[in-house]
Amino acid sequence: MRTLIYNITYYSHNKSIYIMFADCNFKCVGCIRKRFLRDHHLYRENCVEELEKLRLETLDSEEFIEIVKYAKRELDLRKAILGGGEPTFDPMFCDIIKALNLLDLKLVILTNGYLLNKVLNCIPKSSIVELSVKSIHPEKFSAYTGRNKRDLNIILENMDSAFQSGLELIIETIFIPGFNEAEDIELLAEYVAHNLSRDVPLIIDEYVPIPSAPYRRPLLNELIDAKKRAEKHLKKVVIRSSYTRRYLGEIHLLYPKLINSGKHEITSDPYV
Ligand code: SF4
Repeated sequence: MRTLIYNITYYSHNKSIYIMFADCNFKCVGCIRKRFLRDHHLYRENCVEELEKLRLETLDSEEFIEIVKYAKRELDLRKAILGGGEPTFDPMFCDIIKALNLLDLKLVILTNGYLLNKVLNCIPKSSIVELSVKSIHPEKFSAYTGRNKRDLNIILENMDSAFQSGLELIIETIFIPGFNEAEDIELLAEYVAHNLSRDVPLIIDEYVPIPSAPYRRPLLNELIDAKKRAEKHLKKVVIRSSYTRRYLGEIHLLYPKLINSGKHEITSDPYV
């Protein structure tokens, strides 16, 4: 059976793969896939032309498992991160999870949360779910994601179900200047503390500008202000941004194959 997986990268610093899914049930105004079709950590001068020439081809499940087995055997793979597009939108999601679990990998699922209740039972309890709440305001949520504002309630219910199920839950949001700012992020932190627990971590992502969206990149002091406000409610708040770059090792493209180099340094903090 064919999956929606079209890109797999390996990160040496934590022996993980990042698995990308080709479709999504949201249409976010500032979706990074409109600017970088593939893992944006790959976009270095020496491979950008090759990357852009690659056709988007999804893997069937057997091919996918072979690639993961190769990474386990040759690269000592420990962790698999499933991300955007939207992993839970793939009809093969539970089969993919089962196959990865059989290989004894730590699983991290990055999700917009809308379909989470449909797949919750097939996610091993040792996994991490990073659930993205684009904004806690229904109108802003709707304007940014293209979904009905009532869909935010479904996501918040699914957040609660994931928490109650015993999965390790991380909430993620984006700082978007002029749209989703410190006061909005504080409201989200307050919501999480009140309805789940002060112990649930919150990641504040820096908005990365894309040509078709009207927003700018936030300043470091804006991100720090949002973090301080969220910390009034939650014990662990982390900024994930270009301002906190550090050397992390190498990234290898496992699928599809590039013609030339397969190794590129990464300096920004990638995924969980
Ligand atoms: S939910 Fe994520 S992958 Fe889907 S459109 Fe929004 S930003 Fe893009």
